[in-house]
Amino acid sequence: MNTADHDNPLLDFSGLPRFDAIRAAHVAPAVELLIAAARAAVDAVASDSRPATWDNVAEPLEEPLDRLDRAWAAVQHLNAVVSTSELREAYHASLPAITAFHTDLAQDLRLFGRYREMAAAPAFATLDAARRRAAENELRDFRLGGAELPAAQKARLKAVDEELADLSARFDDNVLDATNAWAHYITDASELAGVPDPVLAEAEAGARADGRAGWKLTLRMPCYLPVMSYADNRALRATLHHAYATRASDLGASPAWDNGPLIARILELRRETALLLGFAHFAAVALVSRMAGSVHEVLDFLRDLGRRAEPFARRDYAELQAFARAELGLADLAPWDLAYASEKLKAKRFAFSEQEVRRYFPEHKVLAGLFRVAETLYGIAIRESRAPTWHADVRFFDVMDAAGTLIGQFYLDSYARPGKQGGAWQDDAVNRRRAGAHVQHPVSFITCNLSAPTGGAPATFTHDEVITLFHEFGHALHQLLTRVEVAGVSGIRGVEWDAVELPSQFMENFCWERDVLAAMSAHVDTGEPLPRALFDRMLAARNFQTGLAIIRYVEFGLFDMQLHSAFDPGGGEPPQAVLDAARREVAVVPRAPYDRFMQSFTHVFAGGYAAGYYSYQWAEVLSADAFSAFEEAGALSPAIGGRFRDEVLARGGSRDAMESFVAFRGRPPQIDALLRHNGMVVPA
Ligand SMILES: [Zn+2]
Repeated sequence: MNTADHDNPLLDFSGLPRFDAIRAAHVAPAVELLIAAARAAVDAVASDSRPATWDNVAEPLEEPLDRLDRAWAAVQHLNAVVSTSELREAYHASLPAITAFHTDLAQDLRLFGRYREMAAAPAFATLDAARRRAAENELRDFRLGGAELPAAQKARLKAVDEELADLSARFDDNVLDATNAWAHYITDASELAGVPDPVLAEAEAGARADGRAGWKLTLRMPCYLPVMSYADNRALRATLHHAYATRASDLGASPAWDNGPLIARILELRRETALLLGFAHFAAVALVSRMAGSVHEVLDFLRDLGRRAEPFARRDYAELQAFARAELGLADLAPWDLAYASEKLKAKRFAFSEQEVRRYFPEHKVLAGLFRVAETLYGIAIRESRAPTWHADVRFFDVMDAAGTLIGQFYLDSYARPGKQGGAWQDDAVNRRRAGAHVQHPVSFITCNLSAPTGGAPATFTHDEVITLFHEFGHALHQLLTRVEVAGVSGIRGVEWDAVELPSQFMENFCWERDVLAAMSAHVDTGEPLPRALFDRMLAARNFQTGLAIIRYVEFGLFDMQLHSAFDPGGGEPPQAVLDAARREVAVVPRAPYDRFMQSFTHVFAGGYAAGYYSYQWAEVLSADAFSAFEEAGALSPAIGGRFRDEVLARGGSRDAMESFVAFRGRPPQIDALLRHNGMVVPA
């Protein structure tokens, strides 16, 4: 390494990522160097002539691959949370090299041969389960990566992968740009009647920052959602709805952000990938590494759920229509009335609003309550600590086991801000693995877009935001409480995609436990915990419109699965036709003709949920059923918590998710708890 390399913080693996020092200019040289080192390690292993063993095949690759992962995780993370044009450029400039490296790795016949030899040797059976599993996953991924293909097809597959990675990144960028570019300024306060004060305060600060008077409305969630739910001004809601529903589409503000052509190309390329690998369609490829066995099984699952939810969804919508007609003077319910009318109906029926509840959830109480749940269930301790970060709002925490030993760390980046990708997610910064005598502990990024503090007051969260925080924290616990020592299957790695949401959705249940809520709430003015009566109303409201919500998941799940199986990208029919068909089959609520939801469906076109959107409900069955074990024994039972940690969280991808579930629950998953938690119980 020369001096310049020493100065590159992305190449410093002595501790945590040096987020305060990483600049866009560091990305390309670091990625180049780390890829070169990884390629050299692969070459050395591949050309080794000794009998293949774990120690001379998998082990020597762990460190160089881990370093590349760690550096790229930092770059990818920065690009998502403090996006600047320099950083985005650097990210895109290095992305093809990263993608090409992984494709080459997955297609390396020599390495594939070494792995096959290792797996066939008698010594393989004596390896621990995690190592065997990691090696079996490698063999599977070699096949899925095209290692067995003739040279020309292999090259084509690589080109397809690179183009797909680029298209996905552009899809994301377009949605982010289209969301951030839109603003609507208001100078007449009467036009904002009904909008909650904290939202107005932030909108006012936004206008001021732009050197304008009045209020600036945006399409970012903490503004868009409350305006759609509370603004009495119907025309204003229609304006925002149109802007939101046409983001990144042919009807959006700029043709440069239209994701329509990208979708067509992405589907074509996914189909080509499947055909090259000898599968009928992309869904078949995706399901190879899933808990669900086939397209048929997934469609059956979704349709069964849809059938059970449909009467409840129809009832929900009929009630809303009747209420809007009678009480709000809305003869016809438009798409921009749905959230508003729903909020009014909910407020009337349950006599509380999200904004009222929000006063009970100041950030410090919520975090303390969340940590208490994890500490009680899993026998850990969470302490605030310090580390270099990318923004002043980011906090950092240590996780210790019962003996006080550090077992993991996480970053918490809570608030929405410009330049930060929307939504909430967890990502791995560092994976747990053994490196000689030493164990590298896992580090996690928890990213949310929650309401920020305004005017010197602490941030307060809606109950939905509290649930989001618990959800992402559940992913982080999966990453942090692993006991696996092989990077490829530690934490969330190697876990089947459709089982990944089990620990996160499981955590959400605690947001509905009376004791948990009482301990993590304190009214911002009085300090009073959430009153019993209010909690009871919230609980009753929990099942408000769950039929509609589940139907929406079923609709998107059917759309996604059929788009990646039955749909022919070259067949002349537009992808929108598949969405329309799914809507005709299950949807209960009509859509606006201009609705371009598909063009901002990042989960399926830019994220990892292609042919996998069903997994939210699939995992919901698992998590509801897992939680029912706690309902039987007491929600904060350390005994059940310990078993959940031992059999599910600690195991990561080291064995089948179904095996882990059965080991914890004592039987295969059942759908009953999901239906019961959603109030969908038909009287016998
Ligand atoms: Zn999740």
